Amino acid sequence: STLVEVTDLIKTYGEGEAETRVLKGLDMALQEGDLAALLGPSGSGKSTLLTILGTLMQPTSGRHVMLGEDLTRAKDTALTEFRNRHIGFVFQFHHLLPDFTALENVIFPTAIAEGRETAKARSRGEELLERVGLGHRMDFRATQLSGGQKQRVAIARALMNQPELVLADEPTGNLDRESAEQVMELIGEINAQEKTTFLISTHDEKIAAACRRQIKVVDGKTVSS
Ligand code: ADP
Ligand code: ADP
Repeated sequence: STLVEVTDLIKTYGEGEAETRVLKGLDMALQEGDLAALLGPSGSGKSTLLTILGTLMQPTSGRHVMLGEDLTRAKDTALTEFRNRHIGFVFQFHHLLPDFTALENVIFPTAIAEGRETAKARSRGEELLERVGLGHRMDFRATQLSGGQKQRVAIARALMNQPELVLADEPTGNLDRESAEQVMELIGEINAQEKTTFLISTHDEKIAAACRRQIKVVDGKTVSS
């Protein structure tokens, strides 16, 4: 069934003379369990769309429904709670805390959200690091890990709260080919085994081809695929 749907999404930045319309009536839906690539030229609005889908920004107009909830008019506090429970993020740059260990990096956001570090969060973090193939690196500081390893830690961190949706903005953009393929293989496994839905923006045709669906944004709208 449908996990998230946006309808007639419009997003403009700036005002008056400086106003630019970036999303121009965009429609898109993701089904539960999708593994979808988000493609399109630079400046076409991919990051803007991911930011809206991540509830980090409201569209200028249009509708955004996820898990049956209309998020378009939700208040900030409700959006924050929704985001923490249901959405994970992976970025091009891993944003790990350099002097903290892999395990600390994975469990910190949850510890902060819950106000303390629980044994449950710790064991979930350990399990996830095993899951991404870094069971032997849990106590390594982020600075001691390779680029591909750091991105796998970032994926484990994104999965901490068992999100239904993971939004990944160029997750392999900073990796060499081999690490990029390993990261995509891992995402494919998690998608298949845990039914987590992924939307992955990329410029890389091979990365896009590793996804089951391709969604293309051109001039602020999706073109059918
Ligand atoms: P993509 O991810 O496809 O490269 P973006 O969503 O980042 O596209 O950007 C689409 C357009 O919106 C670009 O022209 C960009 O300059 C503009 N843009 C993005 N964010 C802002 C902002 N905060 N203020 C003004 N313009 C922005
Ligand atoms: P990448 O090219 O994957 O982004 P980096 O630039 O972080 O990786 O590191 C360059 C190379 O050094 C990588 O191939 C990685 O295997 C290796 N490397 C970095 N840190 C470590 C480490 N702590 N242990 C082993 N190998 C490492």
